[in-house]
Amino acid sequence: LNKLNLFIIACALFANMIFPQVLNQEKEKHYRETALKITREALTENVGYELLRELCEIGPRLSGSENSLKAIYWAEQKMKDMGFDSVWLQPVMVPHWDRGNIESAVIAGTGKELNISALGGSVPTPDEGITAEVLEVKNFEQLDSLKEKAKGKIIFFSRELDHGLVNTFAGYGGAVDQRSRGPIKAAAAGAVGVIIRSVTTLHDNVPHTGMTSYVDTLPKIPAAAVGNIDADFLSDALKKDPSLKVTLKLNCRTLPDALSYNVIGDIRGYEKPEEIILTGGHFDSWDAGCGAHDDGGGCIQALESIELFKRLNIKNKRTLRCVFFINEENGIKGAIEYARFSDSTKQNHYAAIESDRGVFTPKGFSFDADSALIQNVQKWLPVLRTAGIEYIRKGGSGVDISRIKNAKALIGYVPDDQRYMDVHHSANDTFESVHPREMQLGTAAIAILVYLIDLEGF
Ligand SMILES: [Zn+2]
Repeated sequence: LNKLNLFIIACALFANMIFPQVLNQEKEKHYRETALKITREALTENVGYELLRELCEIGPRLSGSENSLKAIYWAEQKMKDMGFDSVWLQPVMVPHWDRGNIESAVIAGTGKELNISALGGSVPTPDEGITAEVLEVKNFEQLDSLKEKAKGKIIFFSRELDHGLVNTFAGYGGAVDQRSRGPIKAAAAGAVGVIIRSVTTLHDNVPHTGMTSYVDTLPKIPAAAVGNIDADFLSDALKKDPSLKVTLKLNCRTLPDALSYNVIGDIRGYEKPEEIILTGGHFDSWDAGCGAHDDGGGCIQALESIELFKRLNIKNKRTLRCVFFINEENGIKGAIEYARFSDSTKQNHYAAIESDRGVFTPKGFSFDADSALIQNVQKWLPVLRTAGIEYIRKGGSGVDISRIKNAKALIGYVPDDQRYMDVHHSANDTFESVHPREMQLGTAAIAILVYLIDLEGF
């Protein structure tokens, strides 16, 4: 940096302090009126919430399952019924793992059954199950230090997420390695099976599943999550009898890849139809509960947030596109296919917004964009506050949109996260766990952001 450059930067910073970027009063008044209209409509009509009810009645939507296809055709029809200008299904091959109908873990000689759920992608046990002693460890380092002792055993990874962290995603991130890489580490130590304490903030007995992984150079050993209460039980039982055995039985399996689809719907823009503002979520879910928060609700928010433009007769300059990506949970094949399509057909994405952190009370938006853009959009906060948005921050967007290369901003919708890990990837993720006002307010927040991006631009 030479002195002149430094001087220019200093002047720019100074100017920003004296003249913070604000909307002019007329504009702000007009935008706030529209934002109020959007928010009132979302809160009183509950259109998205009722759509989520219908979606949840179809059941869980694990990639490759019959239910997932039912849901995909349902969504296609809904977008058509809403009068979108074009609606299409984008074919993509997805992994097809099936849980089967046997999953049990019994403490030998006691009949005590632990409440478990096979981890996504797990191999099955032999028909008679695996009966082995259990070695409890808190982390990979401890496992490494006990190496010889792990041979022939079932490794019980029992570390809880850190309840002391305010951000539950950070807590999750600090404990989820047991699930995602536990079977690799355990196999490397010569173990024959894995049980992990569920990664959850709730102290109930519901097991939480999620993707696990293997490497081809090591034996693939079966793996399951156990509910928190039974994790405590097993831990206590091991203290009393370190040589106790557990019989683990799973008949899950990986089937050949299956044909599936991303669901895409466009509302064409009147002025710059080639510029796309995308809203989306992932349409697949885990197979317990119905994926109401993860991510059925996020998808419906993405859908309703642009459908509100039609319902309220708000004209959009740019094309609004809703995408339900398939297979985020165990492959991300939908996002990869959409990005490939986007690159090869030169789709012009102006911005993309993803909702995949649960459908709780709105907090903010996380922008993956350059700092000048983020500073500029801070002036929209007085309008976004209408739907409870408190901040716009620099940060990650979402797994599915993060592969889109040419957008000016990739944006993650951030709701309150305190209850998300209670339901995440488990039978707790039901329609009943969604509060209509919280979900609908989030929809309004996303719709208002789309409105501001479309009208103001970056
Ligand atoms: Zn998700």
